[in-house]
Amino acid sequence: MFKKIVIFCNLTFARFLLTIELVNFVESWGIMTKRSVQIQRLVLLILAAVIVCLSIALAVTGSKYKTLKNTSASASDALVSAQQAQEHLESQKQQEASSYQDAMNQQSSAYESEKNELNKKISELNRQIALKKATTTTTTAPAASSPSRPTTPQKTPDLSAKTIYLTFDDGPSPRTPEVLRILKQYGVKATFFVINGGKYNKYMKDIVADGHTIALHSYSHDYKKIYSSESAYFADLQQISDLVYEQTGVRSHIVRFPGGSSNTVSRKYNRGIMSRLTSQMADKGYTYFDWNLSSGDANGNSIPKATIVNNCRKIPSKQTVVVLMHDAGPKKTTVEALPEVIAYYKAAGCKFGTLSESTPTVHQRVLN
Ligand SMILES: [Zn+2]
Repeated sequence: MFKKIVIFCNLTFARFLLTIELVNFVESWGIMTKRSVQIQRLVLLILAAVIVCLSIALAVTGSKYKTLKNTSASASDALVSAQQAQEHLESQKQQEASSYQDAMNQQSSAYESEKNELNKKISELNRQIALKKATTTTTTAPAASSPSRPTTPQKTPDLSAKTIYLTFDDGPSPRTPEVLRILKQYGVKATFFVINGGKYNKYMKDIVADGHTIALHSYSHDYKKIYSSESAYFADLQQISDLVYEQTGVRSHIVRFPGGSSNTVSRKYNRGIMSRLTSQMADKGYTYFDWNLSSGDANGNSIPKATIVNNCRKIPSKQTVVVLMHDAGPKKTTVEALPEVIAYYKAAGCKFGTLSESTPTVHQRVLN
């Protein structure tokens, strides 16, 4: 800029000198008077001074303008830089946000997989709990239910290998028709160990007619009498055998001792009689059966139905399951429990059978 000012000033000064020379030349020709030359020189000087001042002013103004322009340019540059910085910052922010988002996504994904893993574990644990519950229910079902609860089995084990032999002692009785009706309803055959039922003896033929097995229990069911001696016992047995034959035309050889072969009541009347009787049965042509599952209805005349049902669920490990029940006037709850008992065995997949001479025997330990 200064360079330009200097050039400009020099040019102006040169012009000034040129003008003076021109005036001198004109003067030398004597065209002008001395006075007018002086005025002319003065005017020219003033003009030159004005031009110089103008030049300086222009130069200064130009410089200022340039500076302003430069400042403006700098400001513009600064603005651009600021904008760029802002853009950079924003881009950085976006990058940060993006990476934060990525991190969040990764974390979320990690959480998701962890959640899935946990859900899997929960499912597995639930499955195991269900399995455990099922196993527990299966193994403890008979004992688990309290008498006050509904006794309908919710979960039954697979007992398809078992054969259930329902046996009814002490009939015929006023309960016999009800028992027969229920058995018919469920299509189940049973075994009746009968006594002399007096006026109910007529039901003996119904038992046989319905396809059940009629077997011998005792004519008198009088412990004192029958267990007083072997001959007394076999005489009583012959009596019931004849009665059954009279009533049904069936000569039965299947026997159950009153009180079972393990009874100890007989000891009161004849020590060791059960041992002798049991050892003679086969020789006399009889096959005797005890039981390996008691309904518990012999423990009283009003045993709750639920108790009987629960007792009947306590199935022994043996494949031949002989269930002891009673067909007697006071045993109403046995009749009430019977449908549920049968339903339970059916649901468990058990088969039903009637005792015969070829049925694997179920004997208790003789204690007298
Ligand atoms: Zn009996």
